[in-house]
Amino acid sequence: MLKNENYRMKKSLALKDRNKSKLHKKKLSIAKTGSIASIKTRKKMSIVHSGDKSHFWKGGITKINYLIRNSVEYDIWRTSVFERDNYICQECKQVGGNLEAHHIKLFSKYIKLRFDINNGITLCKKCHKLKHIINKVKT
Ligand SMILES: [Zn+2]
Ligand SMILES: [Zn+2]
Repeated sequence: MLKNENYRMKKSLALKDRNKSKLHKKKLSIAKTGSIASIKTRKKMSIVHSGDKSHFWKGGITKINYLIRNSVEYDIWRTSVFERDNYICQECKQVGGNLEAHHIKLFSKYIKLRFDINNGITLCKKCHKLKHIINKVKT
């Protein structure tokens, strides 16, 4: 008798549990749609932010120069200068090491010559620094 009752109780409990898990699933799906909504708002927010892009450029010439110096074009230009000079510093004739490409004509003034190989010269870090001290130019 007792055994039977126990069994019945367990069964009803199991049923309750199943109902619970159903409810849980419903809640989960609600949570999921909630997250979709938040993704949408996030997208909206990023659109709002992208309208702010001009702000990025308002950082001034320094920022633009920084971007150019980190661009693929600049990288190609620098590598081309190095290759033409055989990776030799044109001042002290050091081969390899800390080489930098120097703009003979001012990078900030001669915009058209920025990526002109003829306006570049391979210098080691030391000579490059010296060159700028002599020219009293920062970049
Ligand atoms: Zn330089
Ligand atoms: Zn050098």
